[in-house]
Amino acid sequence: MKTFVYSAHAYDRPFLEQAARKRHQLVFTEEKLTLATAHYAAGFDVIAVFTADDCSAPVLDKLYMQGVRYIALRSAGYDHIDLHRAAELGIRVAHVREYSPYSIAEHAVAMLMMLNRKLLDAQLLMEVQDFRLDTLTGFDIHGKTVGIIGTGKIGLAFARIMVGFGATMLACDPVQHQEASALGVQYVSLEELLRRSDIVSLHCPLNETTRYLLSAKQFEWMKDNSILINTSRGAIVHTKDLIKALEDKKIGGACLDVYEREKGLFFEDHRNTVIQDEDFLKLRSMKNVLFTGHQAFLTREALTGIAEITIQNLDYWQLGYKSPYELHVNESFRGSAIKPKVEDSGSITVRSI
Ligand code: NAD
Repeated sequence: MKTFVYSAHAYDRPFLEQAARKRHQLVFTEEKLTLATAHYAAGFDVIAVFTADDCSAPVLDKLYMQGVRYIALRSAGYDHIDLHRAAELGIRVAHVREYSPYSIAEHAVAMLMMLNRKLLDAQLLMEVQDFRLDTLTGFDIHGKTVGIIGTGKIGLAFARIMVGFGATMLACDPVQHQEASALGVQYVSLEELLRRSDIVSLHCPLNETTRYLLSAKQFEWMKDNSILINTSRGAIVHTKDLIKALEDKKIGGACLDVYEREKGLFFEDHRNTVIQDEDFLKLRSMKNVLFTGHQAFLTREALTGIAEITIQNLDYWQLGYKSPYELHVNESFRGSAIKPKVEDSGSITVRSI
């Protein structure tokens, strides 16, 4: 079966080819899916896309007109696709519900340690043979209170690492997970979590209830000098309010793997462009902000998992079966002003944007 693969990069293409094992013919482009590139998929009924791809209603309309009937998302998150429009068009969509949660949890910890122990500064000082320690003091994670927002697969993996550090753990999640409680995680309200935590790590999906979950009021609640980690989705944090909280020295720092306006920025080479996004430039210039460009998933294990489930989703489509990772819109909400529930075929029920 032929599949057109958007946003295929040197880091994930070999994993996809390996997983396809010649059962599927994959045609790759490095380019993102946009209204302007949708025509590349003409002649394909199946495409595979990543988080930077634009799967908004106008793009889906164009893809449908060209014959696309199935979209395999190479990601767990599906906030970048208009599932309601896809359902209206009859385009079926599957995602990668699960792949190494350790990749993202470990990256969150790596960022925290790098910022806290000032490893970037230490490396720069080492390079110029300045061996003074005056600017490099950090703090122990041991004994600190860590707040985890979202205790699903990644939040739980993060909690397990924090157990090893000897941290006290708080969490908020509309669903209380037994495994988290068994680790000693105490479920509290968002306000209590923010007021008590020295470190706050976001591990919930972006949807209509979590957009700007952390805005001015929540930054006010946050403990003075606390650190925020966001490896989830940029728009869960109100960027301008985060900048203000940092400028006012309300919070002590931020580790950001995602950014509200990362589309068109991350995953691309911008060495020869003048970046115009003032908020991004401001955040990047702050000594107490550490940025990575949406790379938390970037381990061999995660890439193998993503590729294998993506190819499994293609197998299901080819054989005429419904993938267990298919996403669908609750039919009873169609045409209603209320946003319908979006479910995957498994047991987890979440709300879409
Ligand atoms: P998951 O579905 O296993 O867990 C998400 C948890 O968040 C669930 O327990 C859910 O109940 C909870 N939640 C939902 N709304 C909430 C709210 N308002 N407040 C608190 N908790 C809430 O998902 P996961 O696999 O752990 O992934 C979490 C997120 O991580 C994804 O949605 C995605 O946005 C992000 N992610 C980022 C990367 C990266 O490379 N940076 C990679 C994969 C996933």
